[in-house]
Amino acid sequence: MTIPVPLPLARRIASDLANRHDVTLLFPDTFPDSLVSDALVPIVTLAYHAGGNTRITKAQVDQSVSFTLPGVPGVALDLLSLIPPVYGIPVGTVLRGACASLKRTVIRLSPDACTAGGELLTTLCHELAHAAGIERNGIAGTLAYVVPEGRAGAEGPAYGQTLAGMVYLSGADVRTAVTQIKAIIGGYAMDAAAETLTGLMVDQTAASIEAGAAIGGPWAEIAEALRAGGVDVSGVPT
Ligand SMILES: [Zn+2]
Repeated sequence: MTIPVPLPLARRIASDLANRHDVTLLFPDTFPDSLVSDALVPIVTLAYHAGGNTRITKAQVDQSVSFTLPGVPGVALDLLSLIPPVYGIPVGTVLRGACASLKRTVIRLSPDACTAGGELLTTLCHELAHAAGIERNGIAGTLAYVVPEGRAGAEGPAYGQTLAGMVYLSGADVRTAVTQIKAIIGGYAMDAAAETLTGLMVDQTAASIEAGAAIGGPWAEIAEALRAGGVDVSGVPT
């Protein structure tokens, strides 16, 4: 099934949920451009390059990549500096610089993610899962992201949320969506074991969706917000 979501409603829901979770949400047309373009996008581009995807450009990240970065308090910042350089890129130092300017966790929605309501909320599902992980695990979770197993632990649940959005909001076939997601996961520079682990977490969510079971997490909150906004979500488990 497909749940059509008007873009203005999707934006309102995204803002409400960000406030509820104490997250700063950056829309393409409302965020301070200097923060995103001069600080955050270069960091994320470097992270891609450090992970082995050296083809992606800063302009592509700017247009297409949504991401979540933690606001890191006080002494924990120094821990970020301990992340060693990867392929000569001083990831720890650069990340420390970016996070020092953030007062709290930031979700950046890319222009591509904000062209339609369903796409926006599907992206929000994914990024709110990351924000929840940051809330639970703090700096330890952020540090863990530099090793493949840490990325698996963060991206598995997040892509489970993406899957729910693709299926429920865009009407995607579950198995086709799982295949698409696994192709994306292949770009995260994990080793075979971590990639398998991430895929298993997505498979688990797929099995829940196929069984008509609730999957919880950000999707459940978004479905509830859609219901409150007058959208019929009666056919969808939350
Ligand atoms: Zn992610």
